[in-house]
Amino acid sequence: MEEQGTQRRCIVVLVPCPFQGHITPMLQLGTVLHSMGFSIIIAHTKFNSPNPSDGLTQSDCPSGDVFAFLSTLNTNCKGRLRACLEQLMEQQEVDCIIYDTLMYISEAVANHLNLPSIVLRTMGASSLMAYKAIPRLQAEGCVPPQDFILQALVPELEPLRFKDLPISKFNSLESLLQMCAIACNIKTSVAIIWNTIDYLEHSSLVQLHQHYKVPSFSIGHKFASVSPSSLLKEDTDCITWLDKQAPNSVIYVSLGSLASMDEKELAETAWGLANSDQPFLWVIRPASVAGSEWVELLPEGFKEAIGEKGLIVKWAPQKDVLAHGAVGGFLSHCGWNSTLESISEGVPMICWPSFGDQMVNARYVSHVWRVGLELENELERREIERAVRSLMVDKEGEEIRQRVIDLKEKIALCMRDGGSSCNSLNDLKEYILSL
Ligand code: UDP
Repeated sequence: MEEQGTQRRCIVVLVPCPFQGHITPMLQLGTVLHSMGFSIIIAHTKFNSPNPSDGLTQSDCPSGDVFAFLSTLNTNCKGRLRACLEQLMEQQEVDCIIYDTLMYISEAVANHLNLPSIVLRTMGASSLMAYKAIPRLQAEGCVPPQDFILQALVPELEPLRFKDLPISKFNSLESLLQMCAIACNIKTSVAIIWNTIDYLEHSSLVQLHQHYKVPSFSIGHKFASVSPSSLLKEDTDCITWLDKQAPNSVIYVSLGSLASMDEKELAETAWGLANSDQPFLWVIRPASVAGSEWVELLPEGFKEAIGEKGLIVKWAPQKDVLAHGAVGGFLSHCGWNSTLESISEGVPMICWPSFGDQMVNARYVSHVWRVGLELENELERREIERAVRSLMVDKEGEEIRQRVIDLKEKIALCMRDGGSSCNSLNDLKEYILSL
């Protein structure tokens, strides 16, 4: 480890998966490892959703089959990743590769080059438990679930119901099972890093530790929120608008980087927000409403009806928005990062999950941590209006509002010196240095 009389920095190569919800935690990890003295090199795909490449077009992903998309991405990138690493290793010593679970070819490439690899799981531990259970449930004849068991609790995964399982967006059962294998299997990787916090998912983590039997580190996500990792341009003017709103009055609405709406859902959301009488900040991503470029399909009379009461932006600086004192609720698709960001800021949620692990996260928000409400049916204006008022204003939401503040404090403790995430991060540092 000596170089010209000084200690050589340990070099870690990161392989992120090119979606916002995966890039952010990987770059946060890279930022924090860098601050701990590691040199970081990022091996990134040319494809960067929503800018297509690597033999993929935007229409390949991710509205189609998730497994087919990932499989093409991995196959197309394998040779290039190997060549890049070989070239790099001719010039300098590489100590370890940390890859996103979904960039699974990295494990084989690292193995081929005799490099230790560590997998970063960007999703929650409980959603992995769900993926892990799917092959068993399929063998028992319960997956795909028939309509009459959708509301039933899944044995050993309570309080998840069959309708919460991450089984949508697959063209075939075979694809789904292959996806489960990608999500769950590790072959030669020496350790696992979890983008979660022990306090939130303790029992899932205990079971997963027993299953995987390799060192694992639950570090959570808040150490390096300074890392700018947004793929779209953030509209920072919305912070100025928030500055003018009363404390805890604004409902923030965002479906993350992938989920979309149809015209009817757009109209119901618009009128639900308007009728709730709460100010709102609404992220409508370009092309996220079927059949339109941006906001052309908003219902007639809506803009006039809301006046200054609502602000619509293309993309927000979400972490700053959630940390703003004016924000009192988050209507969310429950992506894992959004979920962590919301509860870490003590913002209660209205959950409208769309696909994949979002269903699991929504169930945990509403029924395990009990810091939010789930919209169970189709988006409907009266339901939205009721949920917003109940979460943010009415007496019935008081316990939820208090619980999320308590949870925020517990999470903050995990992040502090001596807290579980802080300890895990230090352990991870020592572990990488020992490889
Ligand atoms: N995000 C953002 N601005 C927005 C909407 C989302 O910065 O207007 C960020 C958000 O903070 C989160 C990520 O995009 O870190 C979305 O990840 P998540 O896992 O919540 O959902 P996904 O996009 O993967 O469905």
